[in-house]
Amino acid sequence: METSEAVDDYLKAILELGGAEDSRVTTNALAERLGVRTPSVTGMLQKLASQHPALVRYERYRGVRLTANGKRRAWELVRHHRLIELFLHDVLKYSWDEVHEEAERLEHFISERFEDRVAAILGDPEVDPHGHAIPPKHEAGPYRAEVPLVAWPLHKPAVISSVSDRNAVALRELERLGLMPGVALTVEQSTPAAFAVRVQARSSPVRLGNDLAGYIQVAATDRRP
Ligand SMILES: [Zn+2]
Repeated sequence: METSEAVDDYLKAILELGGAEDSRVTTNALAERLGVRTPSVTGMLQKLASQHPALVRYERYRGVRLTANGKRRAWELVRHHRLIELFLHDVLKYSWDEVHEEAERLEHFISERFEDRVAAILGDPEVDPHGHAIPPKHEAGPYRAEVPLVAWPLHKPAVISSVSDRNAVALRELERLGLMPGVALTVEQSTPAAFAVRVQARSSPVRLGNDLAGYIQVAATDRRP
């Protein structure tokens, strides 16, 4: 039998993969994201779809979407996750590469009271340590306008809006290179083999692999690095 944590993980994965357009998510994409086999995904989705109230709408071969109930739970988990990350980082002094794993565990269990107290002590924050928006209580989103750094045009000023929280090694490397949310940059070189950005307060361009650059999202800015 599935634990409620496993159900939560499905809901969050469908929310993330569906994105701002709320598109249908395939069982293959879910299997890859969750690291489980496709038949187990199918079994779980059938269960979530037949539950009352249903958490997903699932049609074989057409993929899956969250119902209103599924979305409510998924956004609550996102809020928990990001609030916990910020609490661990700002109050308990965890480093930014340590907080994700801890938040993945705790996000399922905290009470409404705990959530409210954390939000209050942090001053109702809007952004987590990785630059991700913290949804307001009982609300969805917001989705911010951001673009993968690897798709950003050359020489056009940008500011790092967020970085992926999923890879601790990559986060440590990004911190070492000074590539954190709020930092302004321009892309100087972008080829499959090499990627270089000019960053504020650094005289020479920062070189990084395309894989590492793939963790960064940016937005337009007036600031020149
Ligand atoms: Zn995280």
